Amino acid sequence: MIEPWWKSNAEEKASVGAALQRHAPLMRLVEEDDSLVARGPFDVMHDGQLLARFLIEVHFEPETSATAHAIIETGGRIPRELDRHINTNGTCCIGVYGEWELTSADTSFSTFLTGPVRDFFLSQLHFEAHGVWPFDQRAHGLPGMIESYAELLGVGNDEDIVADTLAYLRLVETKGHWHCPCGSGAPLRRCCRARLAALKEKWSLAGVERLWRHYFKLKQALKSDAKEHQFSKA
Ligand SMILES: [Zn+2]
Repeated sequence: MIEPWWKSNAEEKASVGAALQRHAPLMRLVEEDDSLVARGPFDVMHDGQLLARFLIEVHFEPETSATAHAIIETGGRIPRELDRHINTNGTCCIGVYGEWELTSADTSFSTFLTGPVRDFFLSQLHFEAHGVWPFDQRAHGLPGMIESYAELLGVGNDEDIVADTLAYLRLVETKGHWHCPCGSGAPLRRCCRARLAALKEKWSLAGVERLWRHYFKLKQALKSDAKEHQFSKA
């Protein structure tokens, strides 16, 4: 078993403590057995004004502090229903983690709190007030996940096309006569080559690798028979 970062890296633990102090000063960091949890009131602020206070817990992933962690709303303010974007075990669906990790150059705990966590509770406030979500509501589970990746990549909402496009983006060298991964059947040079090259440029190879890993980790969790996918070169 790997040693969690909070046992081996005092500096990283201190920086998480500092992020809490700064963005959620009422929350406390507690080490319990083999886990690290931050719990307490999380204030949603806007322009220096307190919009709302939620009681939450952050359950830290043991690999690194710079990733998306599980969030649980413990105050009972939000019903534990999929329609409210809360899983039955109480964890919050804070969006596609891969998308946040990819589009944010900084995935520190500080940015996690002020980005996806704050956005989640802001959208809950919007729902409480208006009965609708401030964003288009996606399907749940695997179809919703495929849909969000397809949107991110700008390709059709299809499991194979998403996997093919991710696999293609990981390749360092590509040939113009290969079939385009978008599924059009046309050669790359006459289809999405320039657009996909721009995505690669924007996200960097490391970002694409992170997205790739997240995609298969999520897919594995949602569908146990998922296999790693290779881009087939024509
Ligand atoms: Zn194409």
